[in-house]
Amino acid sequence: MFDRALETLEPERLRAHQWRRLSAMLAEVHGHNPFWTAKWRAAGLASAADLRGWDDFERLPLACKAELVEDQARASLGTNLTYPPERYVRLHQTSGTSGAPLRWLDTQASWDWWARCWGFVLAGAGVRPGDRVFFPFSFGLFIGFWAGFEGARALGALAIPGGGQDSLTRLASIESLRVTVLVCTPSYALHLLETGRDRGVDLTKLAVRITVHAGEPGAGIPAVRQRIQDGWGARAFDHAGMTEMGAYGYECEQQAGLHVNESEFIAEVLDPTTGAPVREGELVLTNLGRLGSPVIRYRTGDRVRVADTPCACGRTFVRLDGGILGRLDDMLIVRGVNVFPSAIEGVVRRFPWVDEFQIEVFRDGELDEVRVVVEVAGTTPGARPLQEALRATLGIRLEVAEVAPGSLPRYELKARRVVRR
Ligand SMILES: [Zn+2]
Repeated sequence: MFDRALETLEPERLRAHQWRRLSAMLAEVHGHNPFWTAKWRAAGLASAADLRGWDDFERLPLACKAELVEDQARASLGTNLTYPPERYVRLHQTSGTSGAPLRWLDTQASWDWWARCWGFVLAGAGVRPGDRVFFPFSFGLFIGFWAGFEGARALGALAIPGGGQDSLTRLASIESLRVTVLVCTPSYALHLLETGRDRGVDLTKLAVRITVHAGEPGAGIPAVRQRIQDGWGARAFDHAGMTEMGAYGYECEQQAGLHVNESEFIAEVLDPTTGAPVREGELVLTNLGRLGSPVIRYRTGDRVRVADTPCACGRTFVRLDGGILGRLDDMLIVRGVNVFPSAIEGVVRRFPWVDEFQIEVFRDGELDEVRVVVEVAGTTPGARPLQEALRATLGIRLEVAEVAPGSLPRYELKARRVVRR
């Protein structure tokens, strides 16, 4: 399943591979899928045969989440369905952290595709048949870990669900089942570390050698990765995916940013304002293997930077330096300086006495004002060193407030650390 031949294709052959997949998908989708057919006809693409080359592809209209949400407001499952409803076998839903949740249907073929994409993620992190992969996640509507679970099984590893358990029970399961791979959000890996510390359990003594993080960015932030790796005595790998898109980004053993799986996705990086191709801008993706409910030229809302050197692992897939740099709609403007919450997290996590944090944003006229609330463990040297590090990194002074242990919420799924007051 891990396809090194595919991952090291020369650029021209990779483009040819993508073109074959894209043409086949368009022939299946155009005229059958009401959402895409209406969108393309409005843009002048009367039939799939009108798409003759990459120039035509780049003229296809961009799509965004708001359109999909609006579409589902009119019909509960929306119109992005290439086949009759009976053909679909899975229903999932986005977490709804940014607006109304989106429902998404998969056919058996697209569910198998999800498992294949997760195979790249897990194999990239070094997971092998024989590994025991634990998912401390309450298996609800969120697709990410369900697909990861299928990926582990398809890879030939032992997939172990960790739903319906509290953190302490999960730690006991990890120990007694001799789990070697942990798949969860970075926030939850940190929370399990706290739980272990409070109970006097040294997690570096466990058999876990690899952690893979999905659901939110974070493992790509150096200070977060360091904290997870030190606490677990394991190597921590970032991964990026979206319910509506699929599992598209993964790290290799170099841990040098996210590779986009270009055998299953087409990646473009565009200026969010002008739409021109750029090295740093918004990631726009097309998936190639989810024919029943595809997304084509989809604006992810994620800011990324394309690495300009090849990866030492030998993969030719494009690499996003530093992973997802931030959500474009999460960006704060503090006294004229653009600040991503992930940049604040990158500083806060360097301080071992901070267990959890929250970013409070106050609107002051047209300006955002920010206070960083940190939950401290044990004795602290006071807020000043953290404040100075924030100023040195971000170039602005932010207020820092300390709160007592247990004051801030913990999250199993997507952490909600930016709070608007
Ligand atoms: Zn690599």
